[in-house]
Amino acid sequence: MSEHTFVFLDAPVIAKPVTRTLLMVARSHSDFTAVWSLRAEQQAAIHRLPNAAPLPAVRDAYRSELTPPGAFPERFTGTKQSVRTDLADAEAAGAHYLITADVYGFGLSDLAIAGLSAVTADLFLAERMTSASYMDAIELFSQTQSRPRRTLEQLHAAIAVHHPQLFAAHADLYDVGPLRLSEPPEQQFWGLRCVRCGAVTMRAEDPHRGVCPACLHAASVRSRESVPIA
Ligand SMILES: [Zn+2]
Repeated sequence: MSEHTFVFLDAPVIAKPVTRTLLMVARSHSDFTAVWSLRAEQQAAIHRLPNAAPLPAVRDAYRSELTPPGAFPERFTGTKQSVRTDLADAEAAGAHYLITADVYGFGLSDLAIAGLSAVTADLFLAERMTSASYMDAIELFSQTQSRPRRTLEQLHAAIAVHHPQLFAAHADLYDVGPLRLSEPPEQQFWGLRCVRCGAVTMRAEDPHRGVCPACLHAASVRSRESVPIA
């Protein structure tokens, strides 16, 4: 999509340092920006580990500003009560995607009203994080790690534990296999906005698929054209 992409992080995503860093670092070389609201930040702070960086300092480091609170979350009647404010805040942020592990907590028609899809961090990053951003992130983890020190290859291998699809998307960057390749959850996308092209073209019967029919078709044409030389 030509328009710059904004992704809204819910509190559990903000509270995970590795996932959050992957999403924040990407702004330098990938075409998306991760944001959150004061309410999400305050919720995430409750789950923050004692020695972790305070979230306002994290935002300052990336020059990221809090997004405004959303209006009338109660109108999202098809959405779980506990996550209605996430949807309202994401809408107020002008976000195209809401990054969450609880993708099915949101009503499909509510997501359509807000103009966004709910997607897991792993699937979103696998689709949208460029190799340059990924290498930036691995380098950053290397510089900021505490003992025992791990190599870039070991840090990359460890990404597979919680972000198997992201690891797979960049598997060829480092000469190492996954530390433990976990299965991605079955529920990782819900909405009508395609996670790959950003168009709101998902078929009404396919809102659980992350990628729209046009993108799937383009990918299958590409894979037929690029027959590997044995
Ligand atoms: Zn698409």
